[in-house]
Amino acid sequence: MKVAKFGGSSLASAEQVEKVVAIIESDPKRRFVVVSAPGKRSSDDQKVTDLLLAVCTRLCAQEEITDLIEEIYARYTAIAAPFGIEQVHLDRIWQSLAAFQTLPTQDNPHLYDTVLASGEDNNAKLIAGILQSRGLAARYMNPQELGLLVTDEPQNARILNKSYAKIAQWRDSPEILVIPGFFGYTEAGEICTFSRGGSDISGAIVAAGLQVELYENFTDVDGIFSAHPGYVHHPESIKEVTYREMRELSYAGFTVLHDEALMPSYHAKIPVVIKNTNNPSHPGTLITNQRDNLDQPVIGVASDEGFCMIYIRKYLMNREVGFTLRVLEIFREFDLNYEHMPSGIDDISIIMRSNQLNPVLEEELLRKIAYEIDPDELRMTHDLSMVVVVGEGMRQRVGITADSTAALARKNINLEMINQGSSEVSIMFGIHKEQEKAAVRTLYYTFFD
Ligand code: ASP
Repeated sequence: MKVAKFGGSSLASAEQVEKVVAIIESDPKRRFVVVSAPGKRSSDDQKVTDLLLAVCTRLCAQEEITDLIEEIYARYTAIAAPFGIEQVHLDRIWQSLAAFQTLPTQDNPHLYDTVLASGEDNNAKLIAGILQSRGLAARYMNPQELGLLVTDEPQNARILNKSYAKIAQWRDSPEILVIPGFFGYTEAGEICTFSRGGSDISGAIVAAGLQVELYENFTDVDGIFSAHPGYVHHPESIKEVTYREMRELSYAGFTVLHDEALMPSYHAKIPVVIKNTNNPSHPGTLITNQRDNLDQPVIGVASDEGFCMIYIRKYLMNREVGFTLRVLEIFREFDLNYEHMPSGIDDISIIMRSNQLNPVLEEELLRKIAYEIDPDELRMTHDLSMVVVVGEGMRQRVGITADSTAALARKNINLEMINQGSSEVSIMFGIHKEQEKAAVRTLYYTFFD
């Protein structure tokens, strides 16, 4: 059995849905289908979820929403048109949209969740109707009936562990179940959505609950590339990658899947494959717990901008018990996360996302460190990018760091920081953001043809 999740671009138009139907029909193992709301049909189009967001804004401002719900309804009728499904499916969608007018806008923490979730909910009803019109035994499955229970954190829900056992009970369903992604229900019966892009999480939860053999995540790319196609001309696509490698890559800007989406399938040891709805015969990228083929030491080169680094040096730092603890306590006091902390005998660097700071906060933070730690040198570097070379195979191969630094040196790229995690799955370089593109390119061509 497989769970097949289809993203918004795969369900944006009748033409796309036709491809989705063909994909479901072509493999009887695709018994569980998780859907997003209809996405963009072209780059200047609007996602249904964004139109629903506009509905919420207007509701809160006590403004008219008729034109918006008509526009949303038109998206569903356009998808349904060529399939000749029964009108009752569309009438239900209209009724659910019209019901927004009656939602309380005051003291209603779930207003946004209720409205936004309707994007996937109505789409799941529609796709179930379309599959039935094709003679497939399919039915819409509400997440509450399925047992997908979440925490009561509006627009940022997390799964409750008891959901998995409830979902498992649907394993032998005789029908193909079409499940809306992106939301679950609280124990009190309220709708709560995950963060944006969260249908990926729903797919992973359903796959983990049902213990399926594969979670197929259908999107609009042929899988994951080994470098950003905007930086490297025609980068190779990755055939197989481990969860650990994927984490390292996604940290540095690979955004094919929602960040949290891998958690449930990782814990349940279920492989995930990223596939292209527009090119379903392409094998895509398989994400597994372990991969055997480690011939190629490096699997990808990723990067992300928006970091800064605090450098602290103090003579005989290594003799002061609790030194790092004191620094980190200051970070906690300021409610700041750090990402890396490479250290030497007398110095440490703390690398963090710049968007957590503003000039006032930065000054206060540095003043506090200066006062409490009394360092010999204290310095802040802005505008850093992190470039990461990732691959399980590098553990068994000598010289990956040497090859990387030599390649960067040849391009005159100055390294502000080097960090290799103890798992030896990645090497990270902190460089000035102007040199990010060049660094990715030179590292890519060092390890790929
Ligand atoms: N429709 C939601 C969004 O646009 C969730 C998703 O598509 O995964 O964020």
